[in-house]
Amino acid sequence: MGLAAHKIEPDLREQFRYMIHDRVDKWVDQIIDEVFEDDKQPTIMELSELFAKTKQKFFGACFQALIEQKYAGLLEQEYVSCPKCGKMCKKRRDNKKEMVTMQGQSELKRPWFYCSDCSYGFSPLDKVLEISRKKYQFDVQKKSTKTTAEVPFCCSSELFEDLTGHRISDHFMHDTFEQVGAQTCLADVIPGQAEIEKRCREAAGDVWRPVLVVAADGAHVPTRVKAKRNEKRGAGRWQEAKGFRIYLLGQDRIIHLASWHQIQNEEQFGKDLAWVASRIPQHQVRIALLGDGAEWLWKHMTHCFPKGRQVLDFYHCVEHIYKVSNVQYGENSRQALEWVESTVCRLFFAEVSNVIGGLGRMKPKDNEAKEEIRKLIGYLDHNRDRIHYQGDRIGGYPIGSGGIESANKFICHTRLKRSGAWWVKETGNEMLRIRCAIYNGTYDKVFDKYKGVCLHQKNL
Ligand SMILES: [Zn+2]
Repeated sequence: MGLAAHKIEPDLREQFRYMIHDRVDKWVDQIIDEVFEDDKQPTIMELSELFAKTKQKFFGACFQALIEQKYAGLLEQEYVSCPKCGKMCKKRRDNKKEMVTMQGQSELKRPWFYCSDCSYGFSPLDKVLEISRKKYQFDVQKKSTKTTAEVPFCCSSELFEDLTGHRISDHFMHDTFEQVGAQTCLADVIPGQAEIEKRCREAAGDVWRPVLVVAADGAHVPTRVKAKRNEKRGAGRWQEAKGFRIYLLGQDRIIHLASWHQIQNEEQFGKDLAWVASRIPQHQVRIALLGDGAEWLWKHMTHCFPKGRQVLDFYHCVEHIYKVSNVQYGENSRQALEWVESTVCRLFFAEVSNVIGGLGRMKPKDNEAKEEIRKLIGYLDHNRDRIHYQGDRIGGYPIGSGGIESANKFICHTRLKRSGAWWVKETGNEMLRIRCAIYNGTYDKVFDKYKGVCLHQKNL
């Protein structure tokens, strides 16, 4: 292409320098007018606000000048070959593009071509610069979407303006967020295989293979049916976001590998877990599977990690014991605490049959206690092969699923469970995917994919 060979002539640089100096002069004039007028004594805050107010215009103009000089060749093109069929096309007109980047507002007049054979219109400069069809360019979209993933829709645009000086509508932020989320899938959110293997090597000790923890859990998310404007929304309902977190126990810290949460059924959860499991070098690690008593998660965890050591989450187990002690002996009574302590201690040493025997001999205080005792016996009996906490400790395995609880809290609860917020399932899942990506360190990858799709689509 003639353009790549186009040498930057020294006078282009000089022209750019001249244009920038011109912009600087204009900006300085503005500052002088504001600051040196009369005997004003502006404070730090006032001066900073003045800079914030004026710099977007200044930088936006510099930005524009830079593009105009750097891409002068493309801006002056009269003929160019059609990217689809190769036919030579003549410039039809100059098209104006208003755009906002994080640097401010700029305007670009660039030539527009049309191939009548392909019925295809295009601007070669747009491709080189990766110009978004939206007014707010990808750098803004990337930051605004991340902001939206952190704070509620209703205040994200205000916060964004406070922090960046750019006023973007709630609507734009919401739409862009949904478009990014819609393009995102499991494969984008989970780190690549090379990265996973690298982290596994990092966690490896001198003698033992590192412990890889697979923990699964459900979190309830308030959902509602998608309704049109002015249409009754109907009653919301709680649906389970099923999720897993996979992490390594390093020498003195947790090394996170991947989190994934979606409002979905058990079958889809199993598929997703299997996909991730296939990317983990299972023979290089010792695997611990952690969960509460929910059967759906054990079914899929053991299927995907057949060599995993199953550990019933200690804290969930203790919670069940507290439930019985409270109804049987009264909440926080001394008797209750003593009973909990001895029961937990015996479970720690894996005396499950002993504990079950003791529960069987208990004389229930009332029907409620009777029912709770019955449930606890069933729970312990069902999970007895997963209770071996002392052995876990000795082997360096975890016994508590604090790792998934904190991920759950960070990924689901802090953003999805806000008072008054009811989520349409699709939007909730978009939110979860983007939040998982941020947590997994794959947001850049996720956004790049969205950008790629936008650039190749005709109408986005
Ligand atoms: Zn063509």
